[in-house]
Amino acid sequence: MKDKLRAAIFGLAIGDALGVPVEFKNRGTFRVTEMLGFGVHSQPRGTWSDDTSLTIATCDSIKRCGSIDVHDMYTRFQNWIFDGQYTVDGIVFDYGITTYAAIKQGYGENAERSNGNGSLMRILPVAFVDASRADIEKISAITHAHDTSTYGCVLYVDIARKLIKGDALQEIISAIRFETPYERLAYIQTLDETEIQSTGYVVHTLEAAIWSLLHTNNYRDAVLKAVNLGKDTDTVAAVTGGLAGIIYGWEGIPREWIEALRGKEKIERTLF
Ligand SMILES: [Mg+2]
Repeated sequence: MKDKLRAAIFGLAIGDALGVPVEFKNRGTFRVTEMLGFGVHSQPRGTWSDDTSLTIATCDSIKRCGSIDVHDMYTRFQNWIFDGQYTVDGIVFDYGITTYAAIKQGYGENAERSNGNGSLMRILPVAFVDASRADIEKISAITHAHDTSTYGCVLYVDIARKLIKGDALQEIISAIRFETPYERLAYIQTLDETEIQSTGYVVHTLEAAIWSLLHTNNYRDAVLKAVNLGKDTDTVAAVTGGLAGIIYGWEGIPREWIEALRGKEKIERTLF
């Protein structure tokens, strides 16, 4: 199981690092085919951002506590945003407004407009442990408490768990009854790229990730397709890359990208 977790978390981190240099750029104005450095956030090649930091903070909490402990996770998110823990260089160069506000005030935002992808980007480790739907919702609600965000996390963990079991993504998607506002996921594969948005809205992010996975057949192509959709490139590619890591395994992740990834030991030591 640890091998699958490693492939998932490194898969997510590499997607994140591929997207960091081109975050916010519009589709069609750039094309990523390799791990790049600098660009939008002026970070060296292979640097990952908040998506990976919050994911490994969640991993570390599960590892240290031996089970889900929402308050412990919250404390680790504080250590990240205020002290730079779980970062490559000890600095936080990328964070969401909702996430920052929630960690500062001690409870998640519940407004319709507070449905960025900030909890979706960090929920993947929960798929590897015993956690109920209520647990997943509480973990999302540390920062993102609105139903749209909590349900997005529930769907992502459900899909990840079935992939871990070895089920095929297309079959998993066909068997889920998606409720609004995620109903497009039921037929997402049939949509043209022009119909896929890749903004920081949690629904768009999950749609873009599943669409990227269903339109490719290997890890490299899946995360590159996600990055090249533009806008919230790092998070869309992280959400895609986590599932692609489970589907294609450690061996499916290009060696040169694993080598280029910075802060590997910081990721590795949080795996349980
Ligand atoms: Mg980010």
